[in-house]
Amino acid sequence: MLIVPEREIAGLITSKAAFEAVEDVFAAMSSGDAYNFPVVREAIGHKDALYGFKGGFDRAGFTLGLKAGGYWPNNLEKHGLINHQSTVFLFDPDTGKPVAMIGGNLLTALRTAAASSVSIKYLARADAKVIGMIGAGHQATFQLRAALEQRAFEKVIGWNFHPEMLPNIEKVATEAGLPFEPVDLPGMAEADVIISITSAFSPSLMADHVSDGTHIACMGTDTKGKQEVEAALVARAKVYTDEVAQSVTIGEAQHAVTQGLLAESDIAQLGEVINGTDPGRTADAELTLFDGTGVGLQDLAVAAVVVDLAVKKGIAIEVDF
Ligand code: NAD
Repeated sequence: MLIVPEREIAGLITSKAAFEAVEDVFAAMSSGDAYNFPVVREAIGHKDALYGFKGGFDRAGFTLGLKAGGYWPNNLEKHGLINHQSTVFLFDPDTGKPVAMIGGNLLTALRTAAASSVSIKYLARADAKVIGMIGAGHQATFQLRAALEQRAFEKVIGWNFHPEMLPNIEKVATEAGLPFEPVDLPGMAEADVIISITSAFSPSLMADHVSDGTHIACMGTDTKGKQEVEAALVARAKVYTDEVAQSVTIGEAQHAVTQGLLAESDIAQLGEVINGTDPGRTADAELTLFDGTGVGLQDLAVAAVVVDLAVKKGIAIEVDF
């Protein structure tokens, strides 16, 4: 069995490799070659932590396994650790034997950023110029970096519930040579693409804050009860997701569906657009929304890439297990 420790991940995988792995697995999910197992996510009643398992099997990429981990909201403040903690385990699909254990923290950020980036590639207008960020925490910086690779953006605007965190995303914009402007929520009307990545349980972005023709990637809502955008905004958009079953239960669309504003059958998988079986955006004025709930297969896909690279570079730790 191989171990690839967290400290090695940054030197192994590029955002381009993460993007391609996620794009491929979304396509495999839509063509029926890959499926996710039901998610287990529990409030464990200790340290306010949410802990769980996301797994799946990808026949095309030949990955089987799970990510175990979750969210400890006080980690950063009390322990100097990031709030997300996770580990990926891969198994041999032919025998069930464990193949590898891989640090999953950086991979989670990269695969989540890759998901919204894939959605921007396929759903945003080609001439998108202004990108709006809602959220300025750990994930937001990865999201913005990956998004900037997809279009010739000329400006970044941002809003955050805790405005003192906005310099986190300003730094990414500055590094990319782009101006950054803090805005209020109605100011998001200027954005051609909006990424929302917060841990909110009530909506910030309302239907009338967003202009026609915008692409919104809702990336923060991955649990029942969380909500970043008004249900009426989801209902106004053409909605895509990584996986419909998760979108309607733990994703952003859960609220619009519960309120009867959106039917499950109105939601399509992004993989269908990648595979060419769904047209995606059909007009510049169309509002598109990607409900990125985060699927286990994304984790397995990027972890498998990391294991291959670690073996090639001779840095995978081999244990007799
Ligand atoms: P973080 O703790 O570093 O940042 C939290 C962000 O949420 C900050 O911008 C903060 O200001 C904002 N926020 C907190 N309370 C808020 C409120 N009441 N209203 C509006 N904004 C509020 O967390 P992070 O690591 O950046 O993760 C952000 C979210 O993304 C979490 O909900 C996490 O579960 C989710 N996430 C989703 C996926 C996925 O695949 N979809 C993957 C990883 C993380």
